[in-house]
Amino acid sequence: MKFGTKAIHEGVSPDSATGAIMTPIYQTSTYVQEGVGNHKGFQYSRTSNPTRSALEANIAAIENGNYGAAFGSGLAAIDCIIKMLSPGDEVISTNDLYGGTFRIFKTIFEKYDIKFHFVPMGDTLAVEKKLNDNTKLIWAETPTNPTMKIIDIVALGKIAKSNNILLAVDNTFATPYLQTPLDLGADIVMHSATKYLGGHSDAVMGLLIVKDDKLAKEMYHIQNSSGAICGPMDCFLVLRGIKTLHLRMREHCKNGKAIAEFLIKHPNVDNVYWPGLPSHPNHEVAKSQMRDFGGMVSFTTVGNKLQDALEIVKKVKLFSLAESLGGVESLIGHPSTMTHAAIPKNQREEAGITDSLIRLSVGIEDAEDLIADLEQALN
Ligand SMILES: *Cc1c(COP(=O)(O)O)cnc(C)c1O
Repeated sequence: MKFGTKAIHEGVSPDSATGAIMTPIYQTSTYVQEGVGNHKGFQYSRTSNPTRSALEANIAAIENGNYGAAFGSGLAAIDCIIKMLSPGDEVISTNDLYGGTFRIFKTIFEKYDIKFHFVPMGDTLAVEKKLNDNTKLIWAETPTNPTMKIIDIVALGKIAKSNNILLAVDNTFATPYLQTPLDLGADIVMHSATKYLGGHSDAVMGLLIVKDDKLAKEMYHIQNSSGAICGPMDCFLVLRGIKTLHLRMREHCKNGKAIAEFLIKHPNVDNVYWPGLPSHPNHEVAKSQMRDFGGMVSFTTVGNKLQDALEIVKKVKLFSLAESLGGVESLIGHPSTMTHAAIPKNQREEAGITDSLIRLSVGIEDAEDLIADLEQALN
């Protein structure tokens, strides 16, 4: 089955009680049992809920995995992955990553004696250098946030496999429409469904997808034991969002391309980060593992002045100044003072998050209007 068909049909079936074509919002905490041990597959909604189960089956199908698990946020999903580890274990992570991921690694899990190494993963040798007997997990985000570096998932998968460690990929920016990491050698895929999967800026949610039975058992054990689940209303919203993921992503990609090509020609713009540009340093890797290049575009301005960036984000009218991304409406952000403020300045600049860096989540409005808006702000 092709992507759009799976997105609409997998995991969902008409409600057995009423025939409702949309999976109902099962707003219930518990389920009446006919007798001890005689139930219909649901006992308590922390453990499982029919609306959540439909979403979990749907995301598993479109990521080409076997099992999905939904959480109260992307970070709760990340929390579940790291809880698969034990004190003394080590993780090798992308150095250029979502600020909240960095924060949970450093300020929460280091206290539990899990060690994190942050390396530039464009260079797989940098990963191999940090490997030791305690390494249990490689954590990759690609495209990276916010400088859109592309990490070679196949190369990391080989390193993980030959060292018998796990590879987890944060697939939030690409979505399964553009990239399916489980097909490329990853063991775990993670999403902030808050972003493109939900797609309408109306829900906060995290998802994990795995193929392996043993890993799934561990994942559901932690989901149930830690209890960081999401409610059925949010599951309904994200299920609905996924039904149009393929349509939205086509428009995000088309607009992303138009804006990247506009920016690269503008005299006040210095660097443009969009993996679809032939000048992008990882363009070839991007082409090999992504089906298109997405709607996230970052750029810096000539002279790299903080003041210029602050003025641009103030002057745009269609782009709303906000954290988050992946909704139908365009957003603009200033990573060094917003999403990535939690990362120390020197580490930030090493990863290319300089003072003038601006990140765009290009929505699905008409490209001409978005470009006109950026043009007046840049001039
Ligand atoms: C937003 C985001 C997260 C965190 O997800 P929440 O739903 O906000 O908890 C993780 N990774 C990436 C790439 C994100 O954009």
